[in-house]
Amino acid sequence: MTPAIEVRDLTFRYADGTEALRGVSFAVSPGECVGLIGPNGAGKSTLLLHLNGLLPESPSGDGAVRVSGEPLTTGNLHTVRRQVGLLFQDPNDQLFCPTVFDDVAFGPQQLGLSKEEVSRRVRESLSQVDLQGFEKRAPHHLSGGEKRRVCMAGVLACEPTILVLDEPTSSLDPYSRRELKELLRRIPITKLIATHDLELVVELCSRVLVLDNGTIVAQGPTTPLLSDEELMLRHKLEKPHILRHIHPH
Ligand code: ADP
Repeated sequence: MTPAIEVRDLTFRYADGTEALRGVSFAVSPGECVGLIGPNGAGKSTLLLHLNGLLPESPSGDGAVRVSGEPLTTGNLHTVRRQVGLLFQDPNDQLFCPTVFDDVAFGPQQLGLSKEEVSRRVRESLSQVDLQGFEKRAPHHLSGGEKRRVCMAGVLACEPTILVLDEPTSSLDPYSRRELKELLRRIPITKLIATHDLELVVELCSRVLVLDNGTIVAQGPTTPLLSDEELMLRHKLEKPHILRHIHPH
């Protein structure tokens, strides 16, 4: 089966010389939910930005990133980007309109859809995230959990086939975190989730990639991998409490 995401030997250096990714390779199958974990500065956000060509130097054009088999190149950036919905780490980077309706409608409008279709998608995606009736609210007056869900509605309104999420539960209270996890569980499409929330990884992801210092240092099924305390500590992570009774060796 053609992978939903395929990354082959991806290397990336920021303009100041920082080498953020060094020969990263992995694949995500259609329908899979994969966790991307690693310490701060490991390169997680940099990697996610590559998946829809958001970094200025990318797409590299060398086929390092493929989405549903299509290499991400300058020529097809538009089509490939439509397939990948990216949820930013900070909702404030994603919300910039005076109303929730405008924010959620922004993506579909960029796709050139009719007014009716845009309205339909806004209504539908707001109901998917349990925010029916929020259309006229001001995004910057919402709670952290609500803002995150508006961002998610905006992403879903573009009807992507792959969701790429950067720290979706960071700075949420336990209740909003639970709500967001339930929401993610209900969305049946392919997901790649970069997070420090290892409970989320255990609950939602069948497989995990560990990124450290720009390199994938381990990957495999979630429970055995996250229960490997030695591996986790070596990469400045820790074995999640909910796996405390699991001993891999
Ligand atoms: P993570 O998301 O895992 O915390 P990042 O992808 O943000 O890691 O960062 C990877 C590396 O790239 C770090 O060394 C970070 O300092 C560096 N980096 C991130 N953004 C930039 C930038 N805009 N310019 C230069 N270096 C950057």
